[in-house]
Amino acid sequence: MARFALFGDTSRRIAEADSVAVIGLGRFGSALALELMAAGTEVLGIDMDDDLVQAHNGELTQVVRADSTKEEVLRQLAVDEFDRVVVAIGADVQASILTSSILLGMKIPVIWAKAVTEQHGRILEQLGVHHVVYPEKDMGRRVAHLVRGAAMDYLEIERGYALARIASPASILGVPLGRTTIRREHGITVTAFRAGQGVWQNADNETVLSEGDQILIVGPTDRVEAFAQLR
Ligand code: ATP
Repeated sequence: MARFALFGDTSRRIAEADSVAVIGLGRFGSALALELMAAGTEVLGIDMDDDLVQAHNGELTQVVRADSTKEEVLRQLAVDEFDRVVVAIGADVQASILTSSILLGMKIPVIWAKAVTEQHGRILEQLGVHHVVYPEKDMGRRVAHLVRGAAMDYLEIERGYALARIASPASILGVPLGRTTIRREHGITVTAFRAGQGVWQNADNETVLSEGDQILIVGPTDRVEAFAQLR
């Protein structure tokens, strides 16, 4: 176990900065870790697959090959000193649960974990994992909305409430938004707009939209869906 001692010193330094430990560097964990790095957050990446560790060498602040189901290994890597840890292990549900349970025992303040099924997610939630995400399910639902309708981008913020990027329908062009009946009639709010190829700006009551403008709308999912179908 002494082989982790050197890594531990570096991890301890990483843990002191704006940092996150990501356990599991599959497609999800890897994309997440790289995005964190791009945003300026230090990342300790852990995976037991040697090829994946090699592949991420130099791309993350530190990458270590280790089995996260072993508490002493996580402690030697100073994972217990991190404020935020992501468990990005999916297929091996047992490893995901075991790792999450060890992290909860270490009293990590914020733990995120990926779930592959409802049951997996329920167990993680019952254990006390702070944030459980379902990447496949969420992306599948999101794409369904894109496939169905006219939305160019779609995000369900929580079940029943969504945000969508759509082309402005003809019925709201040429009049200040405050003088339209969008909220009353359609139950949605236009929060931002982009004129032509310009930059996105916040919308207000005085905003007047023209043909070709894009808008960001928020509201109950069914109302957003219905509004996105308007031409
Ligand atoms: P993705 O879709 O993100 O590729 P997946 O569900 O196919 O995810 P998994 O194989 O379940 O991915 O796990 C993601 C990564 O977690 C893998 O690279 C795997 O090596 C790693 N992993 C699994 N168990 C452990 C463990 N006990 N310790 C460290 N890493 C682990």
